[in-house]
Amino acid sequence: MKILVTGGIGYIGSHTVCELLDNDYEVVIVDNLCNSKKDVVNKIEEITKKQVKFYEGDVCDKKILEKIFKENKIEAVIHFASLKAVGESVEKPLLYYRNNLDATMSLLEVMNKYNCKKIVFSSSATVYGKPKTLPIKEDFVLMTTNPYGTTKLVIENILKDLYISDNEWSIAVLRYFNPIGAHKSGLIGENPNGIPNNLMPYIIKVATKELPYLNIFGDDYDTKDGTGVRDYIHVVDLAKGHLCAIKKILEEKGIDYYNLGTGHGYSVLELVKTFEKVNNVKINYKIVNRRPGDIDACYADCTYAFLKLGFKASKGIEDMCIDSYNFIKKQNNLK
Ligand code: NAD
Ligand code: UDP
Repeated sequence: MKILVTGGIGYIGSHTVCELLDNDYEVVIVDNLCNSKKDVVNKIEEITKKQVKFYEGDVCDKKILEKIFKENKIEAVIHFASLKAVGESVEKPLLYYRNNLDATMSLLEVMNKYNCKKIVFSSSATVYGKPKTLPIKEDFVLMTTNPYGTTKLVIENILKDLYISDNEWSIAVLRYFNPIGAHKSGLIGENPNGIPNNLMPYIIKVATKELPYLNIFGDDYDTKDGTGVRDYIHVVDLAKGHLCAIKKILEEKGIDYYNLGTGHGYSVLELVKTFEKVNNVKINYKIVNRRPGDIDACYADCTYAFLKLGFKASKGIEDMCIDSYNFIKKQNNLK
């Protein structure tokens, strides 16, 4: 059974490819390396002791997709390839709409041509905007607050219209909460270039002394300690969620939407304190102004993914902190 994984050497993609290979799927990856490095292919092969077929190319480019579908009997696709930085999307909306929408359109058109009608799509909890109540259920009203989020919502709508027009499609839309952590081996993980936007990569740069302190964006939110609350999920759990989704779309036609989180909310301070405790390192921080657009709290109701996919995250916040740091220590040859 051959699965095409777009963006398969990125952060979530690489962990998902490992899970697929460990479960005896054959994997073909296409990635244009705009936010990843080619040697991740070797790391994946080192971890799984299996081979993966890699095509370097842009998913917007139908020629490379045609080549892939001609050369491989693809049964289903997991579509990760996307730009994902919220702030950058506000500055460069055209880049985000062009890349994320074009890639999806080219992919769906080529899939349709080759009669491959099974897809798992990476959406995001950002499509819930500022939810009125918590925890967040899949049937909540959707609204977005930035171009990145809007690309996800538009793609969700494209997929819905596609299914309405042709009931032969099987589509799983996965709305991720906040993935952190890394593979136990320390060989793959997340290591963004420059100053990170997201909390865990920033904490890590403070731990490794590349940055002097963490800016905590606000301590006056309506939460347990005033700092923002999010549903952090270990990336390996998230990767396993894709396996559940693949099994589902191979069994059943239709379109459905699933929250992938843990159902637990942790505050910024709780994450910082846990990181310090399990890694025995000090994280200096300053409380600064709220970041524009941030919401108080966001965590998932995970009942539906459990009932329909049998998915339940198993790793806790301590594992997430240990594995995130372990990856960076290994990358930087730190003790
Ligand atoms: P990532 O940037 O690490 O991985 C995305 C990969 O896609 C990269 O390897 C990049 O080079 C590739 N890519 C981008 N555009 C491409 C194109 N046009 N053609 C070919 N390759 C292309 O990001 P990630 O964190 O692994 O995220 C994967 C997916 O999950 C994305 O769709 C993202 O929007 C979504 N998502 C991520 C998060 C998160 O916090 N990481 C949360 C919710 C949703
Ligand atoms: N956050 C912070 N300092 C940072 C980065 C993030 O205090 O340098 C907070 C942010 O306000 C939010 C939480 O950490 O409450 C998670 O932010 P992240 O950007 O990782 O995820 P998202 O906002 O997309 O949920």
